[in-house]
Amino acid sequence: MPELPEVECLTRAVQEVLEGRTISAATFHRQDLRWPIPTKEFVELLVGSPVLKVSRRSKYMLVETKKGAGIFHLGMSGNILMSQEEEPSWKHTHASFRVLDQEKKSLYLHFVDPRRFGCILAVPRKELQDHPLLYKLGPEPLDKEDLAEHLWERSRGKSVAVKNFLMDAHNVVGVGNIYANESLFRAGVRPTRPASRVKRLEWTKIADEIQAVLAEAIIAGGTSFRDYRHADGEPGYFELSLKVYGREGDDCGDCTSPIKHKKIGGRATFYCPSCQI
Ligand SMILES: [Zn+2]
Repeated sequence: MPELPEVECLTRAVQEVLEGRTISAATFHRQDLRWPIPTKEFVELLVGSPVLKVSRRSKYMLVETKKGAGIFHLGMSGNILMSQEEEPSWKHTHASFRVLDQEKKSLYLHFVDPRRFGCILAVPRKELQDHPLLYKLGPEPLDKEDLAEHLWERSRGKSVAVKNFLMDAHNVVGVGNIYANESLFRAGVRPTRPASRVKRLEWTKIADEIQAVLAEAIIAGGTSFRDYRHADGEPGYFELSLKVYGREGDDCGDCTSPIKHKKIGGRATFYCPSCQI
């Protein structure tokens, strides 16, 4: 499923096309995704008014005009693809947005989502910050300067496994399963350790590695409209060089112990029993 780096790259690409321009038409090919699409509100709040800002919060892409904000989520399999054609050439295109480019030619952004776990919502702009999907979210890992301090404070008294703690968006957003596995390996912390037992200095390492891993994935993804699908049509992850994820039984690159696999909270977890304590 698209994770923070994929959504960040997509947001940058959409930002380039939309900011300062106007969505001149919106066509919805169906009325619902994960939730009903408020098509009438979307048109009222977002069509015909210049786009002031395109940004990302957690895995939501936010498109703001003076009046309103569009909230887009890619769910398990969503993507936004750009084309010169009004008629979508992708199966499962659920919405198409017309924009005039710099030469005043029409171009189209198509929202594609085969599994339909994504969403398109629209709210008055002043309600955006308090929206139920957004207001309880933890900080952005790449923006938060004192991320280690925040994680340390927040983990006091929490007996949950540190990996699950990191994947809980109330604590910090955007640390998906692969990124949690890889950051904890690089930081030398075993994923099963209770969050409350991680020392302050280890939180510094974990926070640094989360930021490094996400930044590497964003660089690997580039900033253009890029189709990050696998051959089976499902979106994949940007190519990161993975040191533990999916490597059960392989030699650890640092110490040659075999990488172990375990399920924690139902999610595949990989670690080196020697390097991670
Ligand atoms: Zn090792």
